[in-house]
Amino acid sequence: MAGNRTFTMIKPDAMGAGNAGAILKMIEEAGFRIVAMKVTHLTKERAGQFYEVHKERPFYNDLCEYMSSGAIIAAILEKDNAVADFRTLIGATNPADAAEGTIRKLFATSIEANAVHGSDSDENAAIEGSFYFAKTEQF
Ligand code: ATP
Ligand code: MG
Repeated sequence: MAGNRTFTMIKPDAMGAGNAGAILKMIEEAGFRIVAMKVTHLTKERAGQFYEVHKERPFYNDLCEYMSSGAIIAAILEKDNAVADFRTLIGATNPADAAEGTIRKLFATSIEANAVHGSDSDENAAIEGSFYFAKTEQF
């Protein structure tokens, strides 16, 4: 059965462009409840830990530089079928391929600076939430 939580980050490009409020509004209007949320700023090392799964990919170093280049918002979201529904709301990784009306279509500027992160499985949603928030089960 699909879980009811996912994890998101509003990435430095969207924060820098002043789009965080508009993105959070879309998230809430799509039926997600914000369970936990904070503004933070990753070091390059910590960005590298978060995206460790991609460490062999050619874009890994650039990705870590970019993700540590400015503030982000990290948040845990709750909704039925949260992981899949949130991936639908944000759209494809590359905004050029993202469906009309998705967050990445509206706000992303490149395949790297793509406005938001969304977990790809229930298991990773739990791991990624724990990366930023202690004792998430109490929320
Ligand atoms: P995310 O995990 O951030 O939600 P995703 O699951 O759609 O994105 P992944 O394949 O997990 O995509 O890639 C993680 C992030 O790495 C992307 O969101 C993007 O910022 C960056 N990225 C992915 N592919 C490329 C690429 N070919 N060139 C540059 N950056 C990339
Ligand atoms: Mg991913």
